[in-house]
Amino acid sequence: MTPLPSADQVWQALAQVPDPEIPVINVVEMGIVRDVRVEGGKAVVTMTPTFSGCPALHVIRENLEQAVRGLGFGEVEVRTVLFPPWSTDSITPEARAKLERYGIAPPRPAGEVGLIELELEPVRCPRCGSLDTSVKNTFGPTLCKSIHVCNACREPFESFKTL
Ligand SMILES: [Zn+2]
Repeated sequence: MTPLPSADQVWQALAQVPDPEIPVINVVEMGIVRDVRVEGGKAVVTMTPTFSGCPALHVIRENLEQAVRGLGFGEVEVRTVLFPPWSTDSITPEARAKLERYGIAPPRPAGEVGLIELELEPVRCPRCGSLDTSVKNTFGPTLCKSIHVCNACREPFESFKTL
């Protein structure tokens, strides 16, 4: 009988699961996975959804469960906790750099900006670094992102909303 995988191995398996909206980033880097526990033959994964409006929650749950099941657990439980709420501050620095390379302006640290300032402060263009950008559509393709246009290189780009 092979010993069951450790919690560390579960974390490693979860790090292979891409975020459904931003495939260059995995769910661990996104800060979605809060806790992993191995109890007997069972793995318990605790997650917090990112934006409550994001439609990908059931996809994420399924993907997490599948990744952990692949390790050989008989039972996998994915628990969803809403408190404390997920914030864009949960995104790791490595993931922020990946977001920028992917062409999405990463969110600013939530502590640094107030809500009103958030709408007014320019977002840096991930392509040329110019701060001369304007918001095109605050709703964006999903509730998580907004669309901006860079006045310097004239390229539209998405920005991750700070939460
Ligand atoms: Zn630009």
